[in-house]
Amino acid sequence: MPHTIVSNICEGIADCQDACPVGCIHKGEGMNKKGTDYYFINYTTCIDCGICLKVCPVEGAIISEERPDLQINS
Ligand code: SF4
Ligand code: SF4
Repeated sequence: MPHTIVSNICEGIADCQDACPVGCIHKGEGMNKKGTDYYFINYTTCIDCGICLKVCPVEGAIISEERPDLQINS
């Protein structure tokens, strides 16, 4: 199952984008509710490797489920 970036927990640090082996993490438009940049995962290209979840420093920003209701621009 693809992973999800919870848009309003993400702080836009982008460690996940650099680490993703298939380049499926993209910057969202505008700001989230925290007032920071945020990123989102393209579900059609995510291979569910889990690397993004391991490198993200923000607790709860990435979850190992497909939850389009939590992710802006999915
Ligand atoms: S999901 Fe985590 S590593 Fe990726 S941009 Fe958001 S805070 Fe940074
Ligand atoms: S699970 Fe893997 S392929 Fe999917 S977004 Fe995270 S790093 Fe990229």
